[in-house]
Amino acid sequence: MPVTLSSLPLLLRPRLRPMRPFGFDNSYARELPGFYMDWQPAPAPAPSLLFFNDGLADELGLDEALLGGAEGAAFFAGNTLPEDAQPIAQAYAGHQFGGFSPQLGDGRALLIGERVDREGRRRDIAFKGSGRTPFSRGGDGKAAVGPMLREVLMGEAMHALGIPTTRALAVAATGERVYRELSLPGAVLTRVAASHLRVGTFQYFAAQGEVDKLRMLAEYTIARHDPALAGMPDRHLALLRAVAERQAELIAQWMNVGFIHGVMNTDNMTISGETIDYGPCAFMEAYDPAAVFSSIDHGGRYAYANQPHIARWNLARLAETLLPLMVEAEDDAAVQAAVAQVTAVIDAFPGLYAAALLRGQRAKLGLFAATGADDAEDTALAADWLALLHTQAVDFTLAWRRLADAAEGDDAPLRALFAEPSALGTWLAGWQARCARDAAAGGPSARERAARMRGVNPLTIPRNHRVEEALAAATEGDLAPFQRLLAALRQPYDEAPEFAPYAEPAPAAVTACYQTFCGT
Ligand code: AMP
Ligand code: MG
Repeated sequence: MPVTLSSLPLLLRPRLRPMRPFGFDNSYARELPGFYMDWQPAPAPAPSLLFFNDGLADELGLDEALLGGAEGAAFFAGNTLPEDAQPIAQAYAGHQFGGFSPQLGDGRALLIGERVDREGRRRDIAFKGSGRTPFSRGGDGKAAVGPMLREVLMGEAMHALGIPTTRALAVAATGERVYRELSLPGAVLTRVAASHLRVGTFQYFAAQGEVDKLRMLAEYTIARHDPALAGMPDRHLALLRAVAERQAELIAQWMNVGFIHGVMNTDNMTISGETIDYGPCAFMEAYDPAAVFSSIDHGGRYAYANQPHIARWNLARLAETLLPLMVEAEDDAAVQAAVAQVTAVIDAFPGLYAAALLRGQRAKLGLFAATGADDAEDTALAADWLALLHTQAVDFTLAWRRLADAAEGDDAPLRALFAEPSALGTWLAGWQARCARDAAAGGPSARERAARMRGVNPLTIPRNHRVEEALAAATEGDLAPFQRLLAALRQPYDEAPEFAPYAEPAPAAVTACYQTFCGT
């Protein structure tokens, strides 16, 4: 049965003494009544803090000393909220694997409040795994320790790689068991996001034909993410363009580190351009455009190489929701003109994406000179390199990293990654000639080039076998492997000896059988 956003009573539970105010400023709750349900987190029987992000707490201007302790555990498990929190379950819809669900919403998440951080950026602070809500459908509203710590590792890795992402502020164990295929320890993740506005948020109100609400949502979104567009007559089209630009940059960054999101449903695509929802995601090992790890992605819809196409498809769904704001439905000629305008934005996406990808690839290839570059030539250079990696099933991350050694004249470590290194010869010669031209056009010396390449080609990514090993230990109560891995992921470009084990690829047999799971 659909949830009517005004019909359900506020669930009030007796709470412990509330915490002192956090300095929340809850604009979503205040400005968008009817877009959410007021709701409370389920109490946890025995909270304990498994992870606390000091650096992020500091960015947010929160009291680290207080939150890192017992009071923090009670807060991060959802038992005691600050006085100024206003927990809400947000409504959204979404296309899941291409099929439309008119009502998804926060089935196991709650936005607790918003805070303007030290740099003046408004950030959402939200729980995930804090119990059932009116949007839970058949789900239990809960989360297990392993998948929530997985969000920590993936989000921190992406952040350290310079990729826009939501981040984990804390993970608290609840002291409760949750039941999946096994009985597992339960946990609540506290997630920080530029916002939780998604393509699916627009789809929810569009599907209900609520044009007034869509308009309110668009105004709110523009004020929050694209304030320069406020008041412009064509702001809805401009919003679409801004989202397309952010997504083009984001997906290009994913592709350049071998990240496979795994569940790019429209409810998992943000308006802010941050990566969100680290469920069945994984990093690629040997380069393979068809790589898929998610156990439920049977058709490869969200395979590595499909990600830019899916992003464009999702943007087309966003465009559809904006059309009623751009024109009156009765005016056929105006509707056609608006369709042509949004279509032009959607059709421009592949070009935006290709430009962002090439910009990243040039840096990865060590091409830094501001002049003397030919797009078609450099695109082909990168494509030929990737084709070589694909043919010989070479580790994507290490291949790029070893290219830096080759830039300094030592191509032995790179050749060692190839079963048939002779195939590399022609490409290497072409690349070296291109680097020489780059140097002549004002690019760096060989040494400097190698150093700069090591600053953009990571050595350490969250290798699937290392992530699983850390999460299995954490589920059994041993957090040490998780902490060691996290430390390595936070310094992805560093060659420190203690991080060396995390740079090693998984055995190919392990990768061949590796599967990730959704909705865990
Ligand atoms: P996700 O695949 O995590 O993006 O979630 C898709 C939808 O399923 C969202 O509406 C979630 O809130 C909901 N969902 C996922 N897991 C659960 C759960 N354990 N209980 C209730 N709802 C859930
Ligand atoms: Mg989601």
